[in-house]
Order: sequence, then C-alpha cells, then structure tokens
Amino acid sequence: MHSKVIIIGSGPAGLTAALYAARANLEPLVVRGLQPGGLIATTSEVENYPGFVEGIGGFELADNMEKQAARFGAQFKDTLITAIDARVRPFILQTDSGEQLSADTIIVSTGASPRKLGVPGEDELANRGVSYCATCDGFFFRGKKVVVVGGGNSALDEGLFLTRYVDELIIVHRRDSLRADPILQERAFTNPKVRFVWDSAVESIGGEGRVQHVQLRNLKSGAMSELAVDGVFPYIGHVPNTSLFQGLLTLDEAGYIVTDGRQRTNIEGIFAAGDVVDHVYRQAITAAGEGCRAAMEATWYLAEQEHAMKKTQEASSLVH
Ligand code: NAP
Repeated sequence: MHSKVIIIGSGPAGLTAALYAARANLEPLVVRGLQPGGLIATTSEVENYPGFVEGIGGFELADNMEKQAARFGAQFKDTLITAIDARVRPFILQTDSGEQLSADTIIVSTGASPRKLGVPGEDELANRGVSYCATCDGFFFRGKKVVVVGGGNSALDEGLFLTRYVDELIIVHRRDSLRADPILQERAFTNPKVRFVWDSAVESIGGEGRVQHVQLRNLKSGAMSELAVDGVFPYIGHVPNTSLFQGLLTLDEAGYIVTDGRQRTNIEGIFAAGDVVDHVYRQAITAAGEGCRAAMEATWYLAEQEHAMKKTQEASSLVH
C-alpha cells in the first residue's frame, strides 16, 4: 500500500497535518498508534483551544479533528509502525501486523507519554489504583481518597477534575510552590476537597491487590510517613515517544526529535511535529500549528520532487 504522506500518530499535530495534507489532495494515511487522538483525548476539559468559548472535552476535540480530516479524504489505520527503512525511496514502513506500507514522505507526530514515578508498586498496581488518566478512570474513585503527584498544569487540571468524584484529593509536590498557571492554583487552593503535601516525594505504593497506601518522604527533613489512599495519579511530565526513531532521526539529549525550525528532520522527506519535538510549549494549539507546518512542508517537498522528475524526463526525451 503506497501513500504520498504517511502520518504516524493521531494527536492534534497528526490530525492537523492530515487535514492540511488531505486538503492538498495528497490523500494522507494516518497511522493512529496506541493512543488514538493522542494525549488530548484523555484530557477532561480543554479551555484554552481557541474557538470554543465554553471549552470542549479533550476526546470530542480530537474526534472533531479526525472527522474534519476524514471529510477531505484522510485515511486512518489502527496499527503500529515497528520499523522504517529510510535508505530507500519511497520509504518502507513495517507494521505490527506484518503489513508493509510505503510513503514518499513521513510526518512523525508520535507525541509523548506520561513519565512514571519509577517507585516500587507503581507497575504492580497499575490499573489497580495507579492511573495516568483522570478522565478515563476518575469515575472509579467515587467517594475515595486519592493522591496526585506533581505541581504542573496537568496535576492541577486533572486533580480538579478528580474532585468531581473523590472525597479527598491530596496533591504531593516535591517543592513548596507550584508550576501550574495561577488560575488553576487559585481553583485548587479554594477547593475544599484539595489539600497539599509540600516538599515531598512518593517513595513507594503499596496494597494487597489494589492501592491502599503510599510511603512519603519529606525531602527537607527526610522524615518518612504513610498515607492511606485508594488511588495514585502521577502527573510529573512526559517522555517523548521516539524509541522507533533511535539511530534514524537526530534526537536531543532528552530524546526529542530535532527539527530545523521548519519541521524538517535530518532525513529529507521526513518531518516531525507536536509533543515529539516540542518540550517547551506542549499545548494542543502549538502541536496543531506544527502539524500544519509539517503538512505544508511535505506538500512543497513533494511538488519539488515532482518538478525535478519532470525536468529529468524532459531532458531524457530531448536526448532520445
Ligand atoms: P510539567 O509542566 O513539566 O510539570 C511536571 C510537574 O511534575 C512539575 O511540577 C515537576 O516539579 C514535577 N515533577 C517532575 N519530575 C518529577 C519527579 N520525578 N518526581 C516528582 N515530581 C516531578 O508537566 P505537565 O503538568 O504534564 O504539563 C506539560 C505541558 O502541558 C505544560 O506545558 C503545561 O502547561 C501543558 N498543560 C496545560 C494545561 C492547561 O493549559 N490547562 C493542562 C495540562 C497541561 P517541579 O515543578 O519541581 O519541576
């Protein structure tokens, strides 16, 4: 199966790239990946995406983006890309179902995944009280007591969402001041269900078959304490999904794809956009903007290739 453009990843960057590539008549193929809609689809409420006066649910926003791209001819495939051969043109992409795809250009928009705490009990009790998605799992914590770890926008935004369900929300942060936007801080400080444990780290998560307690360490005094809780939601940042591109694309020391300011990677014909590139802004709107740029760059690149090929054909027909 050949495509002019294959887009790997279906968050705001990938879906916006799909919209622009589809409207340029390139019939892009979007490989949805493990998290259709990307991280935004797991976000409860998006209040800062322009055009939605009252805000919009993250899932609905991603779903709308996909439908809009599909309206102009974008195709979608639920599979994972497991290998890319960039030594040949067109590029060859292997999928996890053994299928082989080929593409003249690739737009990488594989996003980022939640960073794990890396403490004992976290993996063992995943989906048994440890969750990285308040929107998906909040409902299961009705009347419960949960811990959110982190002091950024995600911790507060998702924590505030959890207060719809839980009786008590404890935000454990490693410092004594928050990184989150002032508007979220104000909402958290005035919410009667929220309390903070400052200067502290979760050392381990424990329980018989489900989360029952966490061990906390005060980072200033070193004192240990135990907190009885039913759930733990780590919101301590993200790691880029770039394992597929190691040894292929230039990555920075944190593993993000390096682009040249025009979404072009070190390999001609491969572009990258969104959270897989950006570790500074990481907003749905900036990801969408980068997706637009990547699709426009891919369109121009393909037009140049076509033009060059025509010139070569004309020259060879003159010789004959
Ligand atoms: P973030 O802004 O990087 O915040 C991560 C938080 O986790 C920080 O408070 C950090 O502490 C803490 N942390 C990092 N590593 C840790 C560790 N190993 N142990 C304990 N704590 C740790 O990440 P984010 O909150 O996921 O936000 C990511 C991006 O998405 C940001 O640009 C954010 O603005 C955006 N976002 C926006 C909204 C919104 O606008 N409503 C909502 C969600 C996300 P320190 O503060 O000490 O570094």
